[in-house]
Amino acid sequence: MEYWKITSSPSFHHSIIPINFILVPMIQESNETLLARELKLITGVKIKVSEPLARYTSMKVGGPADFFIEVENAAALTRLLRTLNRYGTNFCLLGNGSNVLISDRGLRGAVIHLAGEFKQVEWRQEGEIVRVKVGAAFAVTQLVREAARKGYGGLEFAEGIPGTIGGALFMNAGAYGSEFEKAIDQVDGFTREGEPIRLSRNEMVFTYRDSHLPPSMVVTEVRLRLRQEDSAKVTSRVRELVTKRKTSQPSGYPNSGSMFRNPPGDFAGRLIEAAGLKGKKIGRAQISERHGNFIVNLGGANGEDVRQLMELARAEVRTRFGVELEPEVRLLGDW
Ligand SMILES: Cc1cc2nc3c(=O)[nH]c(=O)nc-3n(C[C@H](O)[C@H](O)[C@H](O)COP(=O)(O)OP(=O)(O)OC[C@H]3O[C@@H](n4cnc5c(N)ncnc54)[C@H](O)[C@@H]3O)c2cc1C
Repeated sequence: MEYWKITSSPSFHHSIIPINFILVPMIQESNETLLARELKLITGVKIKVSEPLARYTSMKVGGPADFFIEVENAAALTRLLRTLNRYGTNFCLLGNGSNVLISDRGLRGAVIHLAGEFKQVEWRQEGEIVRVKVGAAFAVTQLVREAARKGYGGLEFAEGIPGTIGGALFMNAGAYGSEFEKAIDQVDGFTREGEPIRLSRNEMVFTYRDSHLPPSMVVTEVRLRLRQEDSAKVTSRVRELVTKRKTSQPSGYPNSGSMFRNPPGDFAGRLIEAAGLKGKKIGRAQISERHGNFIVNLGGANGEDVRQLMELARAEVRTRFGVELEPEVRLLGDW
């Protein structure tokens, strides 16, 4: 829509005629343009408009986000969340994108990616107990390895989980009989309105692959409790799990890890394999020949290929075994 704005001419101050206005046509700016302009004024954020998301996910699929926003520090995050809230703009967090399936149509609103000071870690030893303060953008595997080198035990199970601490906390990521919740002491972050929020362990409820955080909470820092042990022993447990993963999981093709949660008393991978679906392809996506609960991108797959394979696996497992498989990956965007 076009409207007219009255503005003073450049000669206004020098003119002897006091009323000196001209009419200039002005294109009404969309909310999105105004928002983009405001966001760009925030120090400590980097904004990309209509940014394709495939490159930020381990599956390498996903259309564009209206705004992809990298945030460097807590002050910038506070301003960002308050601005988004004022505009009524939805947002979601993206860590390392290793547990998401993003629609080919992409995501409306903002995708927030933490960086900068959210990648810091501090260690403090108190006798046998080791306290770790770690930023949400820190890589899980790096933390596991640093802990092993220092002889701090309790995180070995997480070796090979290719996410960030924020994503692992959100998902209550786990493997080989252990989960993140066992090491958690406290979680810090922000509400969607940009207010700081702190949750102690006893205020939190964790279940299988879920931390039940308050809706839209942005996790910025996690405090973990580990134990002092012998470095060689911790390192050897980590190495053992590296080998175990290498022998059981597909490598070489982009994927999102386990697509479905394991149903009580069973394994999603076993059920999908028993349904005869290992190796099944739709487009350029394939149910891994190695592990039934993995879908791999053979190169050039799109989100819809992957989603259809998931639907097929669910339908076959339901029909043959009467079991309803629930996705473990988070489906984000317009499907
Ligand atoms: C090869 C492979 C192996 C895997 N093995 C395992 C495994 O053994 N065990 C396991 O549990 N998982 C596994 N995964 C899945 C995945 O790595 C984990 O779930 C991981 O914790 C996700 O972290 P991320 O940073 O990639 O999160 P993302 O995929 O980026 O996000 C996951 C969810 O967390 C939310 N989120 C991310 N960061 C924040 C934040 N700071 N605040 C609030 N919400 C946030 C996102 O909005 C999204 O809903 C595997 C994946 C792959 C590709």
